[in-house]
Amino acid sequence: MRKIYIAGNWKMNKSCAETVLFLNSLIDFNNSYESEKIEQIICPPFIYLEKAKEITANSVIKIGAQNCSEQDNGAYTGEVSANMLKDIKVEYCIIGHSERREYYGENDKLIQSKYLKLKEHGIVSIICIGETLDERESGNTFEVIKLQLEGIFDGIDTVESDTFVLAYEPVWAIGTGKTATPEQAQEVHHFIRTWLKEKYNKQSADSIAILYGGSVKPSNIKELLSCPDIDGGLIGGASLDIESYKDMLTIAKESEC
Ligand code: PEP
Repeated sequence: MRKIYIAGNWKMNKSCAETVLFLNSLIDFNNSYESEKIEQIICPPFIYLEKAKEITANSVIKIGAQNCSEQDNGAYTGEVSANMLKDIKVEYCIIGHSERREYYGENDKLIQSKYLKLKEHGIVSIICIGETLDERESGNTFEVIKLQLEGIFDGIDTVESDTFVLAYEPVWAIGTGKTATPEQAQEVHHFIRTWLKEKYNKQSADSIAILYGGSVKPSNIKELLSCPDIDGGLIGGASLDIESYKDMLTIAKESEC
């Protein structure tokens, strides 16, 4: 059975003190929360990863980076390698976020290189895909998703569900307050799962988690999680607030998914 992922993408937000406060409060909450089916992931900025790992060392909270280099080491000013993330025991890493595609020119080939590098170091990738508003409005959503999947998994003959999760994030829903309806999200998630089944096999498709991202918050997460192919959320804005993150964990625990 697939877990439910409540993954917070903090982007370039919070100070060190705020990171400590949030994580300590989440640790307290977990004293009475307990759920083995929920995977709690927090992805702070690079600079706070080590501190976050230190604070959460004896907890169920997993820590993720928001990006990594496709290179091992060398003259790549400003970059951080998968090996370095492994060194401080980071468990997850977001790759291919639409903000990185849009502002830093990342493409599916590069995303594949990052995925393979993270896999080599035992870090689980959170691989983001999703269409823009123009692409949706021109009726190209499925074609775009298919091309992204084909690009990222080109030449990869087998997949293991413990090396990555996918995050379907319609670009028009990220940080805009506009969420895809559960029906819109479910049909794309189903399309992705079918693609995985056709390229790989049913067992892989059934075991790979597919998260939804795009203005997820306490008021809409229940409906999204009730969809059969939605296995959790990659959450930006609403994950910055500890009370709203805790509320989403409570709702996820109660959900049937
Ligand atoms: C994201 O950053 O991946 C995201 C989905 O952001 P938000 O929840 O703020 O739309």
